[in-house]
Amino acid sequence: ASERLYLGMDFGTSGARYALIDKQGTIHAEGKREYPNYMKEDSLDWALSWKTTLFSLLEDVPVHLRPLVSSISLDGTSATTLIIDSKTGEPLARPYLYNESCPDALPLVKSIAPINHTVCSGSSTLCKLVSWWNNDDSDKKSTMLLHQADWLLWLLHGQLGVSDYNNALKVGYDPEADSYPDWLLSQPYAQLLPTVKAPGTSIGHLKGDIRTQFAGFSEDCIVCTGTTDSIAAFLAARATKPGKAVTSLGSTLAIKLLSTTRIEDARYGVYSHRLDDKWLVGGASNTGGAVLKENFSDEQLEKLSEHINPMEASPLDYYPLKSVGERFPVANLKMEPRLHPRPESDVEYLHGILESIARIEAKAYMLLKDLGATQVDEVFTAGGGAKNDKWTKIRERVLGLPVSRATQTEAAYGAALLALKGFQ
Ligand code: ADP
Repeated sequence: ASERLYLGMDFGTSGARYALIDKQGTIHAEGKREYPNYMKEDSLDWALSWKTTLFSLLEDVPVHLRPLVSSISLDGTSATTLIIDSKTGEPLARPYLYNESCPDALPLVKSIAPINHTVCSGSSTLCKLVSWWNNDDSDKKSTMLLHQADWLLWLLHGQLGVSDYNNALKVGYDPEADSYPDWLLSQPYAQLLPTVKAPGTSIGHLKGDIRTQFAGFSEDCIVCTGTTDSIAAFLAARATKPGKAVTSLGSTLAIKLLSTTRIEDARYGVYSHRLDDKWLVGGASNTGGAVLKENFSDEQLEKLSEHINPMEASPLDYYPLKSVGERFPVANLKMEPRLHPRPESDVEYLHGILESIARIEAKAYMLLKDLGATQVDEVFTAGGGAKNDKWTKIRERVLGLPVSRATQTEAAYGAALLALKGFQ
């Protein structure tokens, strides 16, 4: 069969994956690579590690499937930033990682940006840019800022200076106006900012030297703009209608809801990413699996859960937190964890924790609605907690909504869907 295939790659925090899908969404091949630890002057050479991993993933795509790959997209970690030479594309400084903070730039950024803007956080892309601009005394004439995904995609299509509005949000791009705001454009470093397109926009053909290096890829294969890793993970669940949401039950509880309206509230750390004509509203609570992990092994969780009756409401009213402080759906940086009274029965205790986290989840969706988002009507679940069917039942009862496990949760799968979008 000569069916077309779409390649997505995910550059996450701990490693990279690829997924190769057809237009129905069936996976034809997938794989994973760890980042190699290349060093440069006593620190990790991240740019080289990512580049090597990108090439390893291309190498891993089965040779007989390569001619069928019609388009490629990829995601990277949000706010992972490179300053590059705009003539050669080579990094001019060590990349700034997603979780790195540049507090030195914060006062200046706060003085130019609107109050509570996304860029007003030490780890924002803009703080990284400003910090580099103010501290590096090299010649800044032919320099450019790219996000991790932009740079890796450039290695494939060769057109320097393109980004997407998901990655560009944290550098200050206004996705609603679809432009950089004036307060940013009037800064001396504005010349470094990349052009911004919608995620999954075709940019160009796969470069000839890549096709030579990895025999079999077609001349017609196109390369599309990408997105961030958490958005790609949401896309994977194929929650494409307003009102559909994904709850991620990992170490923490994160919710993402597709809405027709854009919601921003700095008090709760709630903000929206644009997805074409809709908004992806997100919030993250500090409750979640980390507390479960402190108390129970994964095996215990499975065993104890078997004995829970999910139709019965637990009377235990907890607020499970690993440490002091909560932001969403309750903004209280001094909130104490509440896990008392602890019943003698571990089954009852676990039931109480799962039920309490479900109540926090319900409160979170309620808050998004109160802030003006589209009302949630169905919840898909990702993360380690998604495999607990008893918890799913408890959540269905507490949320009063259909809840199910997302069929696909890998960001690489979401990136492959973006590649498919870019081809159409
Ligand atoms: P992260 O990537 O955020 O660290 P994962 O998505 O891998 O987290 O999920 C891990 C979490 O899932 C752990 O905190 C663990 O306690 C929880 N977990 C594992 N198995 C179960 C289960 N059967 N029921 C509920 N939670 C579980």
